[in-house]
Amino acid sequence: REFCRRLPKVELHAHLNGSIDNDTLYKLMDLYKAKHEELPLEASDKSIYAIKQGETRTLAQCFDVFRAIHALTGSEEAISIVAKDVVQGFANDGVRYLELRTTPKDTPTSAEYVRTVIDALKTAQDKHQGAIVVRLILSIDRRGSVEKALETVRIAAQNKPFVVGVDFSGDPTHKDARDFQSAWDLARQKDLKLAIHFAEIKNTEESLYIVNELKADRIGHGCFMQDGVEDAVLKAQIPLEICMSSNVMGQSVKDYDDHHFHDLYEKDYPCAISTDDMGVFSTTLSHEYAMAARKLDIPQPRIWDLSYRTIDFIFAEVEVKDQLREIWNSEKVLLA
Ligand code: IMP
Repeated sequence: REFCRRLPKVELHAHLNGSIDNDTLYKLMDLYKAKHEELPLEASDKSIYAIKQGETRTLAQCFDVFRAIHALTGSEEAISIVAKDVVQGFANDGVRYLELRTTPKDTPTSAEYVRTVIDALKTAQDKHQGAIVVRLILSIDRRGSVEKALETVRIAAQNKPFVVGVDFSGDPTHKDARDFQSAWDLARQKDLKLAIHFAEIKNTEESLYIVNELKADRIGHGCFMQDGVEDAVLKAQIPLEICMSSNVMGQSVKDYDDHHFHDLYEKDYPCAISTDDMGVFSTTLSHEYAMAARKLDIPQPRIWDLSYRTIDFIFAEVEVKDQLREIWNSEKVLLA
């Protein structure tokens, strides 16, 4: 566990508002109460606090947590607190490159929300003086409209190179990636990368579309890969973001021993161990690595290889990749 904490790490699948820990949540509650006296209805229920390791909730209950958090993050001040605390949390855990993702909110407009987030992330990055590199991905909520998705892609393009790509996420029981073809076309035209939530529930047609037609640059989760989906993925070799605690605690996968990472690791598939929502699921990236090492009996040099290989899958410029490889190689000696 200590080895995984000291290991330099890359985080590629982390939702900004899902990465808030309870301390930041309390700060947000105080901030809200100072202005409104009472907490918003969505945030007054105890179930919004981080789910402890060993507990589970349904995917629908997880989405209630996001609703509560969003009710508390409706001001620029709150958004700045969140962005700064989240970067600090990852930096404290030895994350050296962080690709956060967030869904633009009307606070007060999507473009201004993104500007506030970027300013706060850059301030936090500067504070760490090179110890952590941060980039942003903008999320398209699959429950939203195609117009909103197109607006998100436009804002992403306007904020390159800090914004490196576009994500597709939100409640997987709603809508379909195929409904958003015009947004994907625009993203490609603007040279933005695509990180797509994939097979969180069984949806064979959508999954095959994401791999074979959309040809996403990275896919996330992959819990339900039956009916030819796994074969398509193995053939395409698209890097897969692995979120073990999230999948187990959100009841998409029965337990850690049953997780599809076991099989993919055996096949040497390109995987990026990730947290998804480290606040909601009471985890850290170190914990995810340590859990994988323990459950799959992975020796330390192979854990290092897993972390090093993740650099290949980042969306930032090649110079950043080269810099990270140098850091990894110099820290390898110290870790030995
Ligand atoms: P935000 O985009 O920064 O507000 O982060 C929270 C949002 O991320 C949620 O409202 C969801 O739309 C999305 N999200 C977080 N975790 C998941 C997941 O496991 N599956 C799909 N969407 C998710």
